[in-house]
Amino acid sequence: MRILSIISGKGGVGKTTIAANLSLALSKLGFNTTVVDLNITTPDLGFYFGHYTPEVGLQDILKDPEKLPKGIYIHSEGIKILPGKLQIERWEDVDLSNLNKIINSLNADFVVLDSAAGLGREALASLSLATDVLVITNPELPTLIDALKVIKVAENLNKNILGIALNRVGRSKKEIKKDYVERLLGYKVLAEIPEDKWVVRALEEKIPLISFNPHCRASIEIMNLAFAILGTPYRIKPSIWNKILFWK
Ligand code: ADP
Ligand code: MG
Repeated sequence: MRILSIISGKGGVGKTTIAANLSLALSKLGFNTTVVDLNITTPDLGFYFGHYTPEVGLQDILKDPEKLPKGIYIHSEGIKILPGKLQIERWEDVDLSNLNKIINSLNADFVVLDSAAGLGREALASLSLATDVLVITNPELPTLIDALKVIKVAENLNKNILGIALNRVGRSKKEIKKDYVERLLGYKVLAEIPEDKWVVRALEEKIPLISFNPHCRASIEIMNLAFAILGTPYRIKPSIWNKILFWK
């Protein structure tokens, strides 16, 4: 089982968007995939799937791991989701000691961990559980500096850093280019996901982007990111994309 931590340092760069849709992409490619909301205090992964008022959330399962099966929601696309409850918990009361056991008991090819921003307790829990780390960043300096910090922490934990997903590319003509990002961060850019209006539209409809509009440029690049994570050299040719999409 591969446990993939999606992490960034800075908030609002696209971790949840990518965690949700990359998980769906892996699932569509035939891998048994569970995506987990590790933003324990501020969960929002459920919004990306139209499932945001779970009866049992990760917070309940942390208290009582026996509740795990009830907390897993199977989306119509086949992917499994372990969301958080929206209610604000007293953070001091949240005990993470069962997290390792819970995550490692998930029966999946891929467990994708949507992480919290920063390098606090929640983000560190995600990194320490990971077999593989994917760093999300935007092509602008403050986000890159935060990404660099996260990379240093992941390196100190001896984690396998797969590379970088550069998100919201094309917003500004002056943005930092891929080559510079690779030199600064020391890892390969696996995907350049464009700024795409369909991302927000899908979120408004509470349908994952690659289901809502599989043809848009961001969907295609997230699918390419899935191929890169699988270690394949393939990239989607938009002309054959239709045929792949309707495989079930
Ligand atoms: P994070 O989880 O890192 O805080 P989110 O995935 O929640 O970030 O994204 C933050 C906001 O940016 C959301 O409103 C999301 O719709 C938007 N967003 C993310 N990626 C893109 C993109 N490629 N194009 C346009 N909007 C995006
Ligand atoms: Mg998020």
